[in-house]
Amino acid sequence: MTSSSGVPGGITDAEWSAAVAAVRGLAPGDEVQLICHVNPDGDALGSMLGFALGLRRLGFTRVRATFPGRFEVPEPYGALPGTDLLVPETQAYPHPAIVIVFDVAAESRLGGLADQVAAAPCTLVLDHHASNTRFGRINLVDPQAAATSVVVDGLLGRLEVPLDVEIAECLYVALATDTGSFKFDMTTPAVHSLAARLIATGLRPGEISRRTFDTRPFGAMKLAGAVLGRAELDPSAAGGRGMVWTWATLDDLTSYGQKPYVLDTLIDPIRSVAEADVAVVVKESGAGEWAVSLRSKGAVDVSGVAVALGGGGHRLAAGFTGHGTADEVVAVVRAELDRHLI
Ligand code: AMP
Ligand code: MN
Ligand code: MN
Repeated sequence: MTSSSGVPGGITDAEWSAAVAAVRGLAPGDEVQLICHVNPDGDALGSMLGFALGLRRLGFTRVRATFPGRFEVPEPYGALPGTDLLVPETQAYPHPAIVIVFDVAAESRLGGLADQVAAAPCTLVLDHHASNTRFGRINLVDPQAAATSVVVDGLLGRLEVPLDVEIAECLYVALATDTGSFKFDMTTPAVHSLAARLIATGLRPGEISRRTFDTRPFGAMKLAGAVLGRAELDPSAAGGRGMVWTWATLDDLTSYGQKPYVLDTLIDPIRSVAEADVAVVVKESGAGEWAVSLRSKGAVDVSGVAVALGGGGHRLAAGFTGHGTADEVVAVVRAELDRHLI
């Protein structure tokens, strides 16, 4: 498949046209349900809320946005424009005219909303995971896109929604989150061009970065100290390229009075370890259940590792849900790495 930009595996002209026709075919009073993935991150929330605001600008009056699981927006994203459109999953429209899904690689990331998505008369999926299962009726999936917000920008442009500062802030947070603040390889000229268009609306990158990435409670800093302090290094893992890992329990969160989201950024100091290609953070999410973050510097396809263990993601950043003890989860990952050396 070749996209309109000539990039293999991108989004075809026919797919863009189908998505535009699906939105244009709706009446302004039709119910539109937007959904992003469980434990939403900056790309999931920013892409969804940016598109929600775009729909409002087009005159849609009944737009709801939700995500599965506990209705808690991580504090760094609490001030995003459009959060007033967020509802708990129990208040999602039961029979919307269309469901639009953001940053979701597979239905397993939709939790209790998966059935509603499957039953919807029309499902539009906007995503950028190579592992996307194309579970929508219309799938705008571009594995070359640095964030789902790049796809959102493409669709808003085709719907002739002008960027304003509120939409731009949502898309900027999404883009900055998924590119590691414009540090990863997928930070192409096109990413900087989009960032330039977003900043040109008048948004304040310094203030947004401070709020999104550089503000955490004191207890979160102390918790980070404890979790990073127990990290372990195995230089012989991944065919001798090395693996570094740590873990955090629900008790850790309770002890420091913190919410789960504060653990999500700990993969960054862990992956900075020079002696390891692969970085792993194992975060307890329920009884015997762990949210596992995987990163590689290039020696291992961690998306393959994650998919083999029931999850998904990108080549160098992926995740899955692990079971058992933290040690057991780490052992399973370690054993899988050798099968996915690049
Ligand atoms: P994280 O480590 O949570 O930042 O996630 C890294 C990447 O892996 C993101 O692209 C996620 O969408 C993906 N990912 C994380 N956990 C899962 C999971 N349980 N199933 C599928 N994909 C996941
Ligand atoms: Mn995401
Ligand atoms: Mn994403």
